[in-house]
Formats: sequence, structure tokens, C-alpha cells
Amino acid sequence: MQPVARIELLQGDITKLPVDAIVNAANTSLLGGGGVDGAIHRAAGPELLAECRTLGGCPTGGARLTKGYRLPARYVIHTAGPVYRDPQKSAVLLKSCYRNCLDLAVKHGIRTIAFPAISCGVYGYPVEDACRIAVDTTLDFLARNEHLKKVVFVLFSRRNHDVYRSYLQALGWPH
Ligand code: ADP
Repeated sequence: MQPVARIELLQGDITKLPVDAIVNAANTSLLGGGGVDGAIHRAAGPELLAECRTLGGCPTGGARLTKGYRLPARYVIHTAGPVYRDPQKSAVLLKSCYRNCLDLAVKHGIRTIAFPAISCGVYGYPVEDACRIAVDTTLDFLARNEHLKKVVFVLFSRRNHDVYRSYLQALGWPH
């Protein structure tokens, strides 16, 4: 299937999704935070934090895999997004988050994965720029990788969902 046809867009709560893996926009400690991280830990239960404690953190742009515990998703892939400062450096790191999550997913036989808008909350990344990086990096990966069947972008807010929808439609999505 065409890469763009393997992308889905959803407005809502990523913790509800019955996909193989959901991605957590974590911080480098992996020991919990607010936003989507807090929601994922609340929904997964305390075993998630216990496993995260064994990982020894994650560098910015890196990714680490845990089980999903009480989540409908089998796995959580935790990534530490950049705090938005220098646009060029932040872009390299954000791209690395998406690449490393997708690489890790394929390594573990994951076929369906959902991403939140990494760094677009308290880390302050402008959503228009983050969206382009998320979508371009994912399409590039899908074009070279048949194993991933579905990548879902889950946006909590209506506004962010609209930004993603406009960008995807300009690329010929949903076909
Ligand atoms: P970061 O620290 O990487 O900026 P945040 O968790 O603050 O991470 O925000 C990342 C994005 O996740 C924001 O756009 C926020 O609105 C969104 N978000 C928060 N809760 C959820 C949720 N339950 N499901 C999906 N997205 C969420």
C-alpha cells in the first residue's frame, strides 16, 4: 500500500487506542511527567513506572520500549522530545525521535503504532513545524519499510488535528 494510505489521523486520547504500540512523549528521566506522559502512566498502572525505573533514562531523540500493562496497546515506546529552542537543532532531534521510535517498532514486530504530537505541549514546539517533521519522517520510513501497516497520529486538540489534516491533505491523503 502507498505510504500515505497507511497513515491515519485521530482527535482524542492516545491511551484508548488498541494498536500494537503507543508512543509516549516522555522526558529523559522516563520517570513520569504531565501531559500525555501522565495520562499514559495513569492508564497503564504502576507497573509501567516500575519498568521505566529499570531503563536508566533515555537521551533526547532516543526511544525505549516497555510493555503496555493495563493499556489496550501491547507496548509503549517512550521517546524524549527536544525542548524547543534553536529551530535547526530541535528539528534534528525531533526527527530522530520519530526515526528511532519507528526503527524500534519494526525491530519488535510492531505493525500498528500511534504517535502523539511529540514536544508540542510543555516543550513548546510549534505544531506546524513539528507536524511536517512527524509526517515527512514517517512517510520516508514507510516508503522503505513494508512491515508497518498503520501509523496513527493522535492529536488531543482540535486545532492540532486541523494542522495535521491540512498538511496530509496537501500530500494527497487519505489516498
Ligand atoms: P511534550 O513535553 O513533549 O511537549 P506534552 O505531553 O506536554 O509533551 O504534550 C505533547 C502533546 O500531547 C500535546 O499536543 C498535548 O496536547 C498532547 N496530549 C496530552 N494528553 C494527550 C493524550 N491523552 N492523548 C494524546 N495526546 C495528548
